[in-house]
Amino acid sequence: MPDIIQLLPDHLANQIAAGEVVQRPASAVKELLENAIDAGATEIQLILKDAGKELIQVVDNGSGMSPADARMSFERHATSKIRQIDDLFAIRTMGFRGEALASIAAVAQVDLKTRRHEEELGTHLVIEASEVLKQEPAACPPGTSFSIKNLFYNVPARRKFLKSNTSEYKHIIDEFTRVAMAYPQIAFRFFHNNTEQFHLSAGNQKTRIVELLGNKSEKNLVPVDEDTELLKIHGYIGKPESATRTRGNQFFFINNRFIRNAYLNHAVATAFDGLIDKEAFPFYVLFLELDPQRVDVNVHPTKQEVKFDDDRMLYAYLQSAVKHALARFNIAPSLDFTL
Ligand code: ADP
Ligand code: MG
Repeated sequence: MPDIIQLLPDHLANQIAAGEVVQRPASAVKELLENAIDAGATEIQLILKDAGKELIQVVDNGSGMSPADARMSFERHATSKIRQIDDLFAIRTMGFRGEALASIAAVAQVDLKTRRHEEELGTHLVIEASEVLKQEPAACPPGTSFSIKNLFYNVPARRKFLKSNTSEYKHIIDEFTRVAMAYPQIAFRFFHNNTEQFHLSAGNQKTRIVELLGNKSEKNLVPVDEDTELLKIHGYIGKPESATRTRGNQFFFINNRFIRNAYLNHAVATAFDGLIDKEAFPFYVLFLELDPQRVDVNVHPTKQEVKFDDDRMLYAYLQSAVKHALARFNIAPSLDFTL
């Protein structure tokens, strides 16, 4: 009997891995925006056609890449962000797995233009299904422009699973909101089918929240600001009357990374005990800053789940920070409410 085990060719391994990182246009949007941020951009443009199904383009004025790095960036596990395992626990960048571009390039047509500020000429690279079709010097502005065309064009089964444009667009808005919320010092513009959707100037946290979530939130925002040796918590919570029936307006960021965490949601919810209905959800945008040593961000490819070394401590701090903030604004449960 012959042996039957074979190594998968790279492009196939990349296509399979892509399933974890790129589920839909919104995932590609998230990865490209995060790369632009990691590259130190101060201005980022997001340009979409057909809810990202036809085109996702991200243009930044960040560091740009050398010709060799531009080519290398599409290799699997290729990253400039970590060098050794310990770096994972000192992570200050959004990316580190070196998987996003390899995954995206395996399931789309990619056009990259990039130039480092100190160089006169940049690089133009065209890749389809992991195959480099073109790499040549090109005149382009400093920074980087990635265009992702026809996502999943070569994986019809996945393309078929994409939802309606309305639904895919909503996912993109969610990702854009989370990224833009965490970086108010970066200016963002966002175009969909040639219409501008967002034009966010660099500004402060409060303005950014209001611009992203609508004017209605401004008068309801109560600042949270706690600074301890272990942990900093800042951001805004909504006054009890702005609580909603759905969970939509709840945002946690750990070291500027949007995360989902039911345990931390609970900590905030209990701080609102007696102030809002049991069925209602308080509004909040909270940024927790702690030593990267205490957080494991490498739990899931999309990095929306993280592990803490001491989540009870975090729970207690968070709950008391929210209670303090409410008390400072004289928002306290009335006695007869609890009777
Ligand atoms: P990761 O972000 O995890 O390192 P990616 O696949 O997203 O992996 O990107 C690979 C590498 O390509 C990055 O580490 C970075 O060096 C480079 N890169 C990607 N996007 C940009 C960009 N917009 N500007 C400059 N360099 C970039
Ligand atoms: Mg990345």
